[in-house]
Amino acid sequence: MTSPVRVVTKELTITSKRRREVINITSHIESAVRESGIRNGIALVFLPHATAGLFANEDEPRIRRDYEGLFERLVPASGNYEHNKIDNNADAHLLASLFKQFYVLPVINGELMRGTWQEVFLADFDGPRTRNVVVVIIGE
Ligand code: ZN
Repeated sequence: MTSPVRVVTKELTITSKRRREVINITSHIESAVRESGIRNGIALVFLPHATAGLFANEDEPRIRRDYEGLFERLVPASGNYEHNKIDNNADAHLLASLFKQFYVLPVINGELMRGTWQEVFLADFDGPRTRNVVVVIIGE
C-alpha cells in the first residue's frame, strides 16, 4: 500500500546586510523539511526575486570571499549598464540571470540529501534587503 503524496509549502524570510552577500540557508530548508513531516520526496527551493540567486557549495570564510570575487569578475559592480539609466542595479539583474532562482533537493528518510560540502546559499546581489524563499516539499 502506498501513502498519498502530500505538498507542504513554507515561506522563509532572509535578510541580507550588505549589497552583495552570500547567506547559508541550509538549516532553514532542513527545518522546513522536518516540520513538513514528509519522509521521502523532493524539496523545491524557489526564490521569487530578479536580483538574487541560489547555489549549493562549500561554506568557509575564505571561499565566501572567493564567491564575492567571482561575482565581481563576472559582472563588475560599476559599469556602463543601460538599465542603470532607470534603476541603479543592472549588475544585480545580470548576476541573478547567471544563477538559478530555484533548486531541487531529494528528501530521503526525512532528511534533505546533499553532498558533504554542499550547503545551500542565497546570493543577494542587491542588498541589503529582505528576501522571501519559498520551499515546496512534495512527497509522502
Ligand atoms: Zn532594476
